[in-house]
Amino acid sequence: MPEYEYYCRHCRQPFSSMMSVKEHDERMAECPRCHKTKEVEKQIAHVNTVTTRKSATW
Ligand SMILES: [Zn+2]
Repeated sequence: MPEYEYYCRHCRQPFSSMMSVKEHDERMAECPRCHKTKEVEKQIAHVNTVTTRKSATW
């Protein structure tokens, strides 16, 4: 499951949340500190997806 980066404007703290791509599209993450969703903004950038690559040509 990918980990997404968020930033809470209320707390002025970044946080990350593990959720599926579907969840990420459908709803905003909740800040773990203030539990607001309206003050949270998505951080575009790196998504840490753990993929086990099977290289058949290797
Ligand atoms: Zn917050």
